[in-house]
Amino acid sequence: MEYNELGHAGIRVSKICFGALTIGPTQRNLSVSEGSRVICRALELGINFIDTAKTYGTYPYIRQALLDYPGSQVVIASKSHAYTWDGMENDVQEALSQLGRDFIDIFMLHEQESRLTLKGHRPALEYLLSAKDKGIVRAVGISSHAVEAVAAAAEMEEIDVIHPLINKQGVGIIDGTREDMLKAIEKAAKKGKGIYSMKPLGGGLLIPEARDAFNWVANNPNIHSIAIGMQSEAEVEANVAWSENREPGFEVRSRLSRYPRRLLISDWCQGCGACVKRCSLKAIKMVGGKACVDPGKCVLCGYCASECREFCIKII
Ligand code: SF4
Ligand code: SF4
Repeated sequence: MEYNELGHAGIRVSKICFGALTIGPTQRNLSVSEGSRVICRALELGINFIDTAKTYGTYPYIRQALLDYPGSQVVIASKSHAYTWDGMENDVQEALSQLGRDFIDIFMLHEQESRLTLKGHRPALEYLLSAKDKGIVRAVGISSHAVEAVAAAAEMEEIDVIHPLINKQGVGIIDGTREDMLKAIEKAAKKGKGIYSMKPLGGGLLIPEARDAFNWVANNPNIHSIAIGMQSEAEVEANVAWSENREPGFEVRSRLSRYPRRLLISDWCQGCGACVKRCSLKAIKMVGGKACVDPGKCVLCGYCASECREFCIKII
């Protein structure tokens, strides 16, 4: 496993970051012990970095994994949508208590969309800076699917870490192209920000070309670590193999191919209907103002997902 300094944050992380969203109640909904087993496999293979968030509901899985795999020096990053001082204080305290830790390595403003959003979250950021002064948080940052927010955070002295969305096809970037995002990331890295990216496989759409898609991100020198959602030990093993630029073994590939996949439409769907128009198999329809998939018709081609500006559609 390759390890990198996360910019000037003073934190050393593995090239792969375990994305904890996938195991949790909003996606695969594994039991805590099943989820802990997947995390422990990642730790065994040298991953020392876990990405989570208040809304993922995965603190109990991480806590259990830290108990099941004692002695590991794990870097944990979390985030919250809070925009007030008190709201962020509550969310950091909740993270500490549910993780069973007295500090958290990285805490971020979740899903920042623009300069305006950053401005609106200033009180929450002020709380994070005070928590950093007290040693409760080691580094503060933002996560974003937007070029504008990444570029704006690059200019903010007080931001240590940026968690931007980038992948080979630019799937999920809400306000620009893949090239625009690459430029914003480069600017941020040059300013000393730690960069750990998200969605290298475009929410599952690039699974058929996973090795290439992973390497496309991994070869970018401005990206210090790549968060990738993992829901099984086979996925952990495959991701680690790709990060080491080798194909996973036959046994891992065969376990992966047997893993049941499905289309997930998140509940923040805005009901715009773009995905319905795109699906030539008529596998999506609108129900109660939200998109709804018919698993009997869906062939998991992923075409609908590339139409969704809200990044609601994933293959898990
Ligand atoms: S993944 Fe393909 S088949 Fe399934 S709903 Fe989307 S466009 Fe239709
Ligand atoms: S494209 Fe996205 S936001 Fe629009 S209806 Fe489909 S899932 Fe909902």
